[in-house]
Amino acid sequence: MSALLTEKELAFREEVRAFLASELPDDISGWILSGELARREDTIAWARILHRRGWGGYTWPRKHSGPGFTPIQRYLFEDECAVAGAPEIVPFGLKMVAPVIMEFGSHWQREHFLPRIARLDDWWCQGYSEPGAGSDLASLRTRARRDGDFYIVDGQKTWTTEAHEADWIFCLVRTSTEARKQDGISFLLIDLKSPGITIRPIITFDGRHEINEVWFENVRVPIQNLVGEEGRGWTYAKYLLVHERLNFGGMGFCKREIGRLKRLAQGVRRNGGPVISDPAFRARLASLEMRLAALDMTNLRFLRAAERGETSELHPPYLKILSSHLQQDIAELQVRALGSFAMPTASSEFRNETVEDPEFAHVSPRYCNLRKTTIYAGSNEIQREIAAKHLLG
Ligand SMILES: Cc1cc2nc3c(=O)[nH]c(=O)nc-3n(C[C@H](O)[C@H](O)[C@H](O)COP(=O)(O)OP(=O)(O)OC[C@H]3O[C@@H](n4cnc5c(N)ncnc54)[C@H](O)[C@@H]3O)c2cc1C
Repeated sequence: MSALLTEKELAFREEVRAFLASELPDDISGWILSGELARREDTIAWARILHRRGWGGYTWPRKHSGPGFTPIQRYLFEDECAVAGAPEIVPFGLKMVAPVIMEFGSHWQREHFLPRIARLDDWWCQGYSEPGAGSDLASLRTRARRDGDFYIVDGQKTWTTEAHEADWIFCLVRTSTEARKQDGISFLLIDLKSPGITIRPIITFDGRHEINEVWFENVRVPIQNLVGEEGRGWTYAKYLLVHERLNFGGMGFCKREIGRLKRLAQGVRRNGGPVISDPAFRARLASLEMRLAALDMTNLRFLRAAERGETSELHPPYLKILSSHLQQDIAELQVRALGSFAMPTASSEFRNETVEDPEFAHVSPRYCNLRKTTIYAGSNEIQREIAAKHLLG
């Protein structure tokens, strides 16, 4: 991959590596590299470290106090951070609501929210999906009606990742039922401490609490929290979805997980030798590594085109489909490498605590958890529809 990078980009990558080596605390990286999911306090601590370096809003342009990374610098930055075991910065604030606020928000919203997002003072979550409104998002029914200087919000969101950790939620709400369904939607920023909000856990089949239902009952939201114009939320939502899909690289994560796969396959013996020396296993591993290398190059090719201003509607669905399947397939081979050691126990929330190597315990839950990658951020079937429309017209 180095051959595809300029001297300046290689130097930037070295700068990031040196920064990670000196600033990423060992207890944080050790936790993540062992296969655990990031702890909230670690993510906040890491966000503050980035902020001190001027990399708090690392995806942002200079005019909004970001470092103004090029698309390739940003890619390299995320890659290096993931491989080194840095917690991923919560995307809902940094990469989703922040670009919408920058583009369509009021002066007050920019001044108030952006610095807080850059320091991770506020943890955000995304309130788009509802029962009956996932792929067909415009069918959403959560109502917001005007009452003086407030909106009164009633309804339900679902699959809301990290709502139980979050301080704020950005929501698509219906402010009119008269026009075309896309035209009656508005974009509201809602403080999750507001009276009338109830958050209920949804436990996924890896035994974890990651997603939630969020219920709104007569929730009063000041009109200053409306982004842009009432009834234009669909436009802002589409703008955000493009940013969300552009973020679906996951390359650093895949590189880290391939590294783990090799370690696991060294540590388990089958048929008289370590699994890593089994030719059938090696062939599958090589196939994954080739897919990873190809996807890495494809990402760089697309990003280079983006730098030249040549964006295409094909890139986000294409990358999302390939990356989501790669993440799942790496997790599957990790399970195959462990064989019976990957069997979850009936207790301890599906975590396998029965084997000596603590890293083994995370493999099955991770496999289960990653089934989500082909569903969220726009299911892969929908991504194929978008790609097909682009290619076939
Ligand atoms: C782990 C996880 C976390 C999530 N986090 C969030 C979050 O934080 N915030 C949020 O707002 N949402 C979140 N989501 C919701 C996610 O965006 C939706 O699940 C997704 O958009 C699919 O919607 P749905 O579940 O209603 O399924 P449906 O839209 O009902 O789809 C069901 C199936 O039909 C297929 N399908 C639907 N329409 C078509 C079509 N036109 N052509 C072909 N196939 C079609 C879909 O691909 C899918 O396989 C999360 C989901 C998961 C699983």
